[in-house]
Amino acid sequence: MAAERYPHLKVEDPEIYDLIQEQAKFEASTLKMIASESFASYCVLEACGSIFTNKYCEGYPGARYYEGNEYTDRLENLARERGKQLFGAEHINVQPYSGSPANQAVYRAILKNGDRIMGMPVSEGGHLTHGWKVSFSGQDYVQIPYGPDPETGHINMNKVREIALKERPKMIWAGTSAYPHLLNYSEFAEIAKEIDAYLVADIAHINALIIAGVHPDPVPYCDIVSSTSHKMLRGPRAGFLLSKIEDRYQSKYFAESKFNLAQRVDRAVFPGLQGGPHMHIIAGMAAAFKFALTDEFKQYGIQLVKNAKSLAASLQEKGYDLAGGGTDTHLLILDFRKKDFTGKDASKALAKCGIIGNFNMVPGDHRSPFVTSGVRLGTPSLTSMGMKEDDMKEVAGWIDRVCSNISNIDEIAPTIRAEIAEFCKLFKVPGMCD
Ligand SMILES: *Cc1c(COP(=O)(O)O)cnc(C)c1O
Repeated sequence: MAAERYPHLKVEDPEIYDLIQEQAKFEASTLKMIASESFASYCVLEACGSIFTNKYCEGYPGARYYEGNEYTDRLENLARERGKQLFGAEHINVQPYSGSPANQAVYRAILKNGDRIMGMPVSEGGHLTHGWKVSFSGQDYVQIPYGPDPETGHINMNKVREIALKERPKMIWAGTSAYPHLLNYSEFAEIAKEIDAYLVADIAHINALIIAGVHPDPVPYCDIVSSTSHKMLRGPRAGFLLSKIEDRYQSKYFAESKFNLAQRVDRAVFPGLQGGPHMHIIAGMAAAFKFALTDEFKQYGIQLVKNAKSLAASLQEKGYDLAGGGTDTHLLILDFRKKDFTGKDASKALAKCGIIGNFNMVPGDHRSPFVTSGVRLGTPSLTSMGMKEDDMKEVAGWIDRVCSNISNIDEIAPTIRAEIAEFCKLFKVPGMCD
């Protein structure tokens, strides 16, 4: 938080400067537990703030529509090489502006408007872009829903197979935003093969777990894998797509096309959906990939799950219900279905005390999506700060104090907030502490 980091803003645009300082202070003194957030490194932040923001380079390396792209070509190739190495992928596109545009490109690469796709509704833990009604994906395509069993909170693969065989979607999404368990891509792949459907994994939430080897790897099983580079990957806010080069269904669905799968993915991103790539962001993505290739990052990925399991165990010891009975990933969902307060009440109370999460539906929820019965909490930010299993026990203590005092939260909030701010000082916030 050293002032000299933004010397020009400080002098010439103090309004923005002050907001950056306030946000940094806020993030460094609270427990950031939104499961889709973490901390980008100085390297990522510097690359994203670089002069590559000025350059226009529509197209791909070696085939641009503008001149002067020697260095952007080298930069994009560097990002692509690192990304392919990181995930062992045949092909990568690093240009999607974010996760949602990446998913939009997936649809355009393999489907036609009106096609049926299988995906999890947002209310069940899926993402908006997996066919939810208010998103383009639910308006231009038909979602065949599947989701966790309301009793167990686990996805039942027999049920998935049953739905797939009956409805015969042309594509299956395997990916979630709020599911605390592992996905079995090899079973998804068998099901997809039985009905000649494309299988697409969306690993935006769990890519670091895959890199660390604590979650199954979708790359061998899927036609396309979509991801963000922010969230637990700790890169810039952007998306990327991994894919096979050849389309195993070329003769069935794309006999008339002269483009293979990788080429169709690229053409869907540009010129299909986007114009010029954000080269400063691609620079940040390359920096994030470099870090993700280190052993330090793998340890972080492993620790994400250890911390979530420790937090889950402590909360369960204190009598809290968790959706799906616990966690195998970086996130857990407190299940308040039996309580007289809502998920929204709890997430607001937690935030007042410096624990920042979000309210979330739980499987079998009887409350509306606007209040819900759950709170989703994740470990990426805390793990990035260096917290370990024992620290999660402290965190569980604060969560318990908040959730057992929802009705008189204003009385105790200042004390808890101050305790948490003190606790945070014991750790180092990446990209913020010098
Ligand atoms: C976050 C997320 C996305 C979309 O990312 P944005 O960058 O917010 O558009 C897509 N899929 C899943 C599963 C996600 O969790």
